[in-house]
Amino acid sequence: MPAIVSDHRVHTPSDVDDALRFLADHRDEGWRPLAGGTDVMVGIYRDHTGGQRWLNLSRLQAPLAGIRREDDLIRIGALATMADLRKSSLLAAACPLIGQAAAVVGATQVQNRATVGGNIVNGSPAGDTLPVWLALDAELELASTRGRRQVPYEQFMTGYRRTVLESDELLTAILFRPRSDERLRMYFRKVAPRAAQGISKLVFAAIAGLEDGYLHEVRLAFGSMGPTTIRARAAEQLAEGKPPSLSLVEKAAETLARDLTPIDDHRSTADYRHRVARNLVREFLAGNLGDHIPAAR
Ligand SMILES: Cc1cc2nc3c(=O)[nH]c(=O)nc-3n(C[C@H](O)[C@H](O)[C@H](O)COP(=O)(O)OP(=O)(O)OC[C@H]3O[C@@H](n4cnc5c(N)ncnc54)[C@H](O)[C@@H]3O)c2cc1C
Repeated sequence: MPAIVSDHRVHTPSDVDDALRFLADHRDEGWRPLAGGTDVMVGIYRDHTGGQRWLNLSRLQAPLAGIRREDDLIRIGALATMADLRKSSLLAAACPLIGQAAAVVGATQVQNRATVGGNIVNGSPAGDTLPVWLALDAELELASTRGRRQVPYEQFMTGYRRTVLESDELLTAILFRPRSDERLRMYFRKVAPRAAQGISKLVFAAIAGLEDGYLHEVRLAFGSMGPTTIRARAAEQLAEGKPPSLSLVEKAAETLARDLTPIDDHRSTADYRHRVARNLVREFLAGNLGDHIPAAR
């Protein structure tokens, strides 16, 4: 029988199979995974909610927190914390954007508890690691007693705090192809009111290759610029296969409005977000131009 803590109920499985069986057996009873609790606990205290049912994942660290190479992919266990991502030399070599994003989530105490799986499943478009998974074309591994399926991160978020995760599924890992090629340029920037403990006004991750003077595999990914994380596809397509030039940088920046749909809210205005997004794309693409760096506006 699940233990009762206050008026919340908690079940603590000892291995992944036990966890998945429990979710399957209690599918319609509202049990939700509890990882680091940094989003869940804020929600409980903010909404004064009681009587919820939590599947405590704390004993699944060994199978679900590792970061390792698996054939030609990197596999990050869903229970890896932001501190784990920040400190991993494997990730620093495979894609430095991941550690950079993890380093700006909350402050040290939060980074020691907050898991990457929780950041993804929580489904906030302001989650700081999320544009990185989008720029990396990462895949998510979802497990249930019905088996394991792999979903491109881009298809995982279907709306504001909505995902394709079923009630009997756990997110078990994030998989991506390492980007160690030194011809790739990468860029990460979080824009928030202060250096630590600030929720993003917008967050941007970008990757592009420059080969024989031509841009390729251009990825421009934004958070807090719509109900889900968004790739600026029109600007990507404009830049793809072209030699970087000042006019290309300007056209790509001006094209962003086609894809980005920010709102005015208590953290910022849509106008500010558009303006900063244009400047971040200018700054990233202009990095491919050598000395011809256009001034931000
Ligand atoms: C003070 C403070 C500052 C913060 N600052 C930032 C910030 O700057 N940037 C930022 O992005 N976030 C920030 N956060 C939010 C939070 O830390 C992150 O979203 C965190 O990564 C969530 O992970 P967690 O392990 O704590 O998730 P939890 O709170 O345990 O869970 C979050 C959600 O994910 C689900 N879940 C968790 N793991 C799984 C899994 N493996 N499979 C299926 N479902 C799962 C849970 O059911 C729940 O719905 C902050 C939070 C606090 C309290």
